[in-house]
Amino acid sequence: MHDLLPTSELERFPPIEWAEIAPHMTPALRASLEKALESLDGSVLTLEESYALAAADGDDLLGLLVAANVLRSELVGNIVTYVVNRNINFTNICFVGCKFCAFSRGPREADAYFHDLDKMAEKAREAWELGATEVCIQGGLPRDLDKFYYRDILRAVKSAVPRMHIHAFSPMEIVYGVELTSMPLADYLSMLRDNGLGTLPGTAAEILDDEIRHILSANKLSTAQWMEVIRTAHRCGIRTTSTLMYGHAETSAHWVRQMRLLRDIQSETGGFTEFVPLGFVHQNTLLFHQGLARSGPTLAEHLKVHALARVLLAGSINNIQVSWVKLNRQLSQLCLHAGANDYGGTLMEENISREAGATAGQYTSPEDFQALILEMGRIPAERNTTYSRIQIKLPLDQFTAEEAVEAEFA
Ligand code: SF4
Repeated sequence: MHDLLPTSELERFPPIEWAEIAPHMTPALRASLEKALESLDGSVLTLEESYALAAADGDDLLGLLVAANVLRSELVGNIVTYVVNRNINFTNICFVGCKFCAFSRGPREADAYFHDLDKMAEKAREAWELGATEVCIQGGLPRDLDKFYYRDILRAVKSAVPRMHIHAFSPMEIVYGVELTSMPLADYLSMLRDNGLGTLPGTAAEILDDEIRHILSANKLSTAQWMEVIRTAHRCGIRTTSTLMYGHAETSAHWVRQMRLLRDIQSETGGFTEFVPLGFVHQNTLLFHQGLARSGPTLAEHLKVHALARVLLAGSINNIQVSWVKLNRQLSQLCLHAGANDYGGTLMEENISREAGATAGQYTSPEDFQALILEMGRIPAERNTTYSRIQIKLPLDQFTAEEAVEAEFA
């Protein structure tokens, strides 16, 4: 896939109005987007219409980006949220061997590490003192992990900081925990919930298509297993995020099918809090070096995935997050103009994308998020993990709420 529009032209889309671009679009694509704009509901689009939007280029792509931005403002307004959190990757030892992963290590490698329960408690305590409301805990899968280690991490963190929200354990880790304990999935998830698990990251989804999954990792959980973990978690009252990794061996048709699949699960369970597109960071990965993947997403793909998600998921999953660690500062802002409304977490210590070659850094402070959001003419707000508490954060010496709203409409 290539950028058909010169980069500079694509970057200039944010001020374009729908009425300006619509007449330049292919009539069928324009009609599809008008349907979505009128209904504020992505389910009105057929599979064929969705494929056509995913393949849009030139003025059609600009139209998609602009329509996504209009939908975003209609559905969630001008607030851009973020959560103050700490990422804790408790070990990098992993036997799974995903080819897109540059984070995992063998147990005897010099830089392999494993945090014990005291260390986890200490990190959570430090995070709380620095204002974090959430810890996001994921790690590699070490072969000899204690049977109940995931539960014990929850206990250690909760006893150190009872009010900390724990967002932890990918569906892959849940499948591993079930294997280690031989417990039924629902019982295992309920046990984690009862020991303090708040929400589950919907990671390890990559592309929910077994052919592509096999290229990415021969040992990863299957599409059916991912869906089973997610549905069961939702039924146990554990909400999750949803994700998609793009820019490797997949096509745009995979994006469409995955977004529609997530929509279906959401209409069954209502358990997704947000959708997070994750751009593939290729530099230090086997997947790229073995010639199995392209070299990460183009600018057009980054923008298109966020916009497509806003349109196809409209009315179903209304929070679309940018993964700032995988995008740079300017690209995160562009994606927030192309349908996204959430910056994700401050993270404090991000490791996974950095090891794969991402250079956006390990921490963005709340003040940096606020400045980036105000720069876009939008309103910064801190949220909790489930978006049930949103607190507007305006530096009152610079802006009043009224001025910030005016900036958006100027
Ligand atoms: S992505 Fe996760 S499961 Fe796969 S190799 Fe890396 S740490 Fe292991």
